[in-house]
Amino acid sequence: MYKAINQLTETEIIILEPTWSGNLEQLRRWSQNDALVCQECQQPVRVRAGEVRTWHFAHKHRQNCVIGNESPQLLQARALLYRWLVSKFGSERVTVEKRLPDVELARPIDCWVAGEVNFAYWIFETNLKPPNRDAVRSG
Ligand SMILES: [Zn+2]
Repeated sequence: MYKAINQLTETEIIILEPTWSGNLEQLRRWSQNDALVCQECQQPVRVRAGEVRTWHFAHKHRQNCVIGNESPQLLQARALLYRWLVSKFGSERVTVEKRLPDVELARPIDCWVAGEVNFAYWIFETNLKPPNRDAVRSG
C-alpha cells in the first residue's frame, strides 16, 4: 500500500509523494513507534524503501486485511497510474487508495482525481481469480 495514517498528526501519508524521498528517516521513526497504521485495519505498517520496488508500506504483522495481499504487479500499476495522473493534474488533486464514505467497495479506489468532476480509477488484474473478481463486482 502507498497510503498510511499517521496517528500522531491524524493525516494521510502517501509515500509516493516526492516530499518523502528526502524525509525517509522521519517516516522510519514514525514506523518504529507504530505511529503509521493501515487505513483499513488500523494495524501498524512498516516502510519498505528498497532499491528495486517502489517505496511502499507493508503490514508489520500478517493478518486478515482486504489490502494485505496485493500483488507487486497491482502495486506497480497503481504507482505508475498515480505518477501519470500527478503529471497531468498536479499532486494536490490526485490521491491513491481512496475510501469513499457511504460506498461499500471490496478495496479502496486505486487512484482518485478531485475536481469539478471527480475521476475514480480502479485497476483490475486480469489474473484475478473468479471468486475475488465477483467479490469486487458485488462490492
Ligand atoms: Zn490493513
